[in-house]
Amino acid sequence: MTAQRLVLLGGGHAQLAVLQRLARQRPAGVDVLLVTPALRQVYSGMLPGWLAGHYTEAQCVVALAPLAEAAGVVLRQAAAVGLDAAARTVRLDDGGVIGYDVLSVNTGPVQDPARLGGEGHGGGVPMLRPIEDWLARTTRRLAEMPPRRVVVVGGGAAGFELALAWRHRLGAVAEVAIITGASGLLSNYPAAVRRLGARALAERGVRCTVSAAREVALNAVVTVDGRIWAADEVVLATGTVAPGWLRGSGLMLAADGGLATRPTLQSVSHPEVFAAGDVASRVDRPLPRSGVYAVRAGAALADNVLRRLAGQPPVAWDAPVRTLNLLSLGERSAIASWGPLAVQGRWVWRWKDRIDRRFMFRHGTT
Ligand SMILES: Cc1cc2nc3c(=O)[nH]c(=O)nc-3n(C[C@H](O)[C@H](O)[C@H](O)COP(=O)(O)OP(=O)(O)OC[C@H]3O[C@@H](n4cnc5c(N)ncnc54)[C@H](O)[C@@H]3O)c2cc1C
Repeated sequence: MTAQRLVLLGGGHAQLAVLQRLARQRPAGVDVLLVTPALRQVYSGMLPGWLAGHYTEAQCVVALAPLAEAAGVVLRQAAAVGLDAAARTVRLDDGGVIGYDVLSVNTGPVQDPARLGGEGHGGGVPMLRPIEDWLARTTRRLAEMPPRRVVVVGGGAAGFELALAWRHRLGAVAEVAIITGASGLLSNYPAAVRRLGARALAERGVRCTVSAAREVALNAVVTVDGRIWAADEVVLATGTVAPGWLRGSGLMLAADGGLATRPTLQSVSHPEVFAAGDVASRVDRPLPRSGVYAVRAGAALADNVLRRLAGQPPVAWDAPVRTLNLLSLGERSAIASWGPLAVQGRWVWRWKDRIDRRFMFRHGTT
């Protein structure tokens, strides 16, 4: 009997659980290949803490090669650039084409420069994603010449946390501003979080403007009302979309471009394809695109991929209706929210720190 081939596309938050599971329970007669452009998975939950100076870089990344080795998985350093669901093949940026019997996709989203509208389209400003590139560039920046005027474009969780992290890192000598977009600060969060968030920015001297960026350049941002925001560091935290290589794959996509999945995390059109995290869009019940849901989907993804390989029916993932959301505030303080309730304090940061470190420890980072 020929071996089945399982391809793990992307080493995102959910895929880490698949690797971990394979290390414990390796099915016979299955070859497994992990395709990842980076040898490390950056844990975004700790990235603002790294920028603020609370963590070293090594504390915020999961090394993928040791996990792959422990699971008996072959690692190929490449990125998917195309997929043919009918032929069951993935095209890679190194020119290779690989076949699969079962595919598990957790490649995350890409940043959408078009969200800036107008002529803006990023103006050569580095994007937040791929996070690896942003991390490397910011490391250089901090070593060479830390900025004095930071403008963050985007008022979601990433923009909010990074603005406060820059403020903490640079101290009072720097000016930090956040341009939230028309929807305002933390618009996906309940009112109590938005209130605490706005207060946290004001208390820490971060200027917050509800307006949309029209043009972005390396040294300035122009908002739709014509105001010019001079900067020597611009952070584009303008939101993400599903990657373009999914288009033309033959896989059914949701209206937002994400890989349309069932409650079992299987593709709606191709049951041998599974997907989790920000690349996927669950059609029965759209889930927030968030690190929390990506992590929580991991166990179900591992379960169902293994069930498929064993010829067993997959089981629906009962995704939580509510999750604990934690936002760091630059210094060692954070906001926690659960449904409409929100609290803030240093003890919340210590709580978040314990959760984050536990997650990293599970994947071999101490
Ligand atoms: C600064 C910051 C703060 C954030 N704060 C929060 C927060 O407080 N709460 C929250 O819930 N969310 C937060 N987020 C969002 C969170 O990071 C994402 O929702 C989460 O990363 C999605 O996880 P994922 O596993 O789907 O994708 P990712 O974490 O992006 O992982 C995808 C992996 O796939 C790899 N990959 C990418 N492209 C390809 C390809 N073509 N082929 C193969 N592999 C590929 C990547 O290298 C990466 O290893 C924040 C994000 C940032 C940047």
